[in-house]
Amino acid sequence: MFPIEISIKIFVFGYGSTVGQDADHKFLKQSVEEAYEAVNTKDGYPFGAVIVRNGEVVVSCHNMVHKYKDPTAHAEMTAIRMACEKLDTFKLSDCEIYASCEPCPMCFAAIQMTSIKRLVYGARAESLTPMGYGNFISDALRGTTAFKKANLEIKKAEGDDAIMAEQLSHFNLISFIFQAPWKMPKDSSDHIFMKQAVEEAYEAVSTKDGYPFGAVIVRNGELVASCHNIVRKTKDPTAHAEVTAIRMACEKLDKIKLSDCEIYASCEPCPMCFAAIQATGIKRLVYGANAESLTALGYRLFISDALRGTSSFGKAELEIKKAEGEDAVMAEQVFVKTKPLHKKKKAITE
Ligand SMILES: [Zn+2]
Ligand SMILES: [Zn+2]
Repeated sequence: MFPIEISIKIFVFGYGSTVGQDADHKFLKQSVEEAYEAVNTKDGYPFGAVIVRNGEVVVSCHNMVHKYKDPTAHAEMTAIRMACEKLDTFKLSDCEIYASCEPCPMCFAAIQMTSIKRLVYGARAESLTPMGYGNFISDALRGTTAFKKANLEIKKAEGDDAIMAEQLSHFNLISFIFQAPWKMPKDSSDHIFMKQAVEEAYEAVSTKDGYPFGAVIVRNGELVASCHNIVRKTKDPTAHAEVTAIRMACEKLDKIKLSDCEIYASCEPCPMCFAAIQATGIKRLVYGANAESLTALGYRLFISDALRGTSSFGKAELEIKKAEGEDAVMAEQVFVKTKPLHKKKKAITE
């Protein structure tokens, strides 16, 4: 389970000076400095990321979850969005990313989707336990076929660099606010909201905003956010329907936890979106099409493999409902009906 949003007081420890000339040390150090900056500025949690191309920094940033009230504004996600905007692309295959800590499943999936060629990280996910993260991140990552099969060079910092990054985790937790146990709504509004998510998916294609995926967030039976994939419109590779819906809902509700909300997705969420759903504490996910139905779009089994192979998916404290009958057919038809518009789309594989 992801830790619950909380007011925590963080004591930042200084880190000793390290000597090293190589680029990895320099950029990793910068990502660690960003992590401290996140806390000093109160922008978010102590995580930093730097994206480098041909030895030059493209962007350098930190976790902005608090500042933006956007639970997906992790350092790596923010760095990817900024880099894509700056370079006017949504593929970063000529870039490397330096992260102060091992990326969470959401960020890891975003790194993979943008084809970043190399990841260097400082602290291991396990060093987050002082912050109350348990083994959520390491379990989720290490259990995944997505992680194992990634076509990405992954380097864990060693020696002084590792110590520098891990010192970030000496946090003193003052308090945790645990989520109250929730009761599952059993009303029959699932069809209405699923239909809306599917309509959004068609909208994504007809407006050319992005790919055929829609998502709707609902609280107490009322619509909070309804949107579709806007990857093309925003040139933001993280602007999937679910992530966009989460961003919109958090902005609207002025908070970064959505534990009283449900999300309806036209298709089974990808690992990035699934991790974002988990991280925001959304209590219920209803999805239409199976990830396997994306083969029509050339996605092969990337998403289903990545999801189903994860302990994170298996252990999610989230009610997950797969649409059945007519709702499932309605959602699966999206890909068949929009396929002619995606003939030139490249296969997305690991
Ligand atoms: Zn992350
Ligand atoms: Zn997604």
